[in-house]
Amino acid sequence: MNLKEYVRVIEDFPEPGIRFKDITTLLRDKAAFRYAIDQLAERAQGLKIDHVVGPEARGFVIGAPLAYALGVGFVPIRKPGKLPSETLNRTYDLEYGKDGLEIHKDAIVPGERVLIVDDLLATGGTIRTTIELVSQLQGTVVGLAFLIELGYLKGRDTLEGYPIQTLITYA
Ligand code: IMP
Repeated sequence: MNLKEYVRVIEDFPEPGIRFKDITTLLRDKAAFRYAIDQLAERAQGLKIDHVVGPEARGFVIGAPLAYALGVGFVPIRKPGKLPSETLNRTYDLEYGKDGLEIHKDAIVPGERVLIVDDLLATGGTIRTTIELVSQLQGTVVGLAFLIELGYLKGRDTLEGYPIQTLITYA
């Protein structure tokens, strides 16, 4: 199955000049959605994962069914102020301004093996921050998995040392 055919590219969203990759068209197709999750699950075989970790919101949509398929638990990473228990927080730079992400402090036990999942790898900022949160809790990041990679933004180059799986690439 050619998954790229199910991704819709929206010109000038959310700003002029951006070609937004809209995965809602892939998600709504039962065969494409199942195939995508199955492919990611297959590529995670043998990693001996304890948890899938995914940032909101599209990281939940891909990460939770992937965790289910792998028979492991799911840990959410959220924007500040959303998680109800004690959290660890990190801020990161955006093109304009700053953003933050949080994880529950007790979500990862030291030594646990984690697969980090998101819908799309762009500059890598979201995933680097997620790696930092997991590492601060002494989890071991054993892999990174994405539906889509925007190769031209070179996010991969900033994630050296981590095995990366992507199903769809825009060079
Ligand atoms: P990064 O932090 O620059 O790698 O950006 C990745 C994050 O931005 C992911 O969580 C994506 O959900 C979101 N993102 C960036 N560009 C797109 C896009 O074209 N389509 C969908 N999500 C995007």
